[in-house]
Amino acid sequence: MKAARLEDGTLHIREVPVPVPGEEEALIRISAAGVCHSDLHLARGDWRGVPRSGVIGHEAIGVVHALGPGAERFVHEGDRVILGLGGTGGGYWCGACEYCLRGQPRHCSESKGILGTFAEYFSVWAPSLVRLPDTIADQEASLACGGLTAYGAVKKLLTHGVRPGRPVAIVGAAGGLGHYAVQIARSFGYDVIGVDVGVERLEFVRSLGVRLAVDADEAVDVVGREVGGVDASLVFSAKMAGFRLGLKLLRKAGLFVAVGLPPTSEGNLELNPFELFLMDPTIIYSAVGTVQDMRELVDLAAAGRVTSHVSRVGALSDLGSIFDELEAGAYTGRAVITDLTT
Ligand SMILES: [Zn+2]
Ligand SMILES: [Zn+2]
Repeated sequence: MKAARLEDGTLHIREVPVPVPGEEEALIRISAAGVCHSDLHLARGDWRGVPRSGVIGHEAIGVVHALGPGAERFVHEGDRVILGLGGTGGGYWCGACEYCLRGQPRHCSESKGILGTFAEYFSVWAPSLVRLPDTIADQEASLACGGLTAYGAVKKLLTHGVRPGRPVAIVGAAGGLGHYAVQIARSFGYDVIGVDVGVERLEFVRSLGVRLAVDADEAVDVVGREVGGVDASLVFSAKMAGFRLGLKLLRKAGLFVAVGLPPTSEGNLELNPFELFLMDPTIIYSAVGTVQDMRELVDLAAAGRVTSHVSRVGALSDLGSIFDELEAGAYTGRAVITDLTT
């Protein structure tokens, strides 16, 4: 079968053996795999200390092709499933440690990620799979990471006491994760202010039905004037400027949810203790989500309340050019590989 591999930072499509599913694993024939910005960061070596060789890809939709021992408790051959859980938690979690029991399996010391969905077949731990209704198209593969990450972040508004109806800002609202967050926050009943850059991107944000779509340059003024600061900022930007803006948009005692991960070269987010004293923000990071979050998101998508903005579909052999296009910001929506065989 074909599979994409990074070798010293260079992308290759190699011929490799089809994996054999192990204990509690299911072998999935991949029908579509989303291209995530973190794949690009891995390929470009943006994250210090992360190896630049190995298989890549962590969001996909496919069909269960074969089962390893014990996997029949979770899925059946022929089931259509979404896999990935954002990569970091989709491979395994113990289910019994304090973090697993608290609903934070990504902190489980035994948790394993998923990498390698840019391939014809992929073997995955069956309990992390979520079955899909036929109404959700293969092109929705990015729900597995981009969608789930946005869902996990919006859900944290509820756990931190930000009530539906309150104003929240989404920084990077037109982006691959931000556009999901806008739709999810709206379906939760929040008063959504979308922040992005440029006429075209703001037009897209407006089309998602926000209360306000504002350019980053004017956001502090406009948000201050219109709502007196937001109850929460969700920052999907991968730029430190977006992080700083997210903090400035908050009203006193607001919630700051960081989701983007700027390259290490962008330096640190600096905070003045007097600002902390005066503004009293709650600052948290939100990464991916749980298998239960994925089930809830699939329900929202099946109800037509969340759809993926896909700007590019291609074959496995297009992956290199898709990375170049993403790096150049050639389009706002996601890219999805819908043919893993060529
Ligand atoms: Zn991802
Ligand atoms: Zn655990």
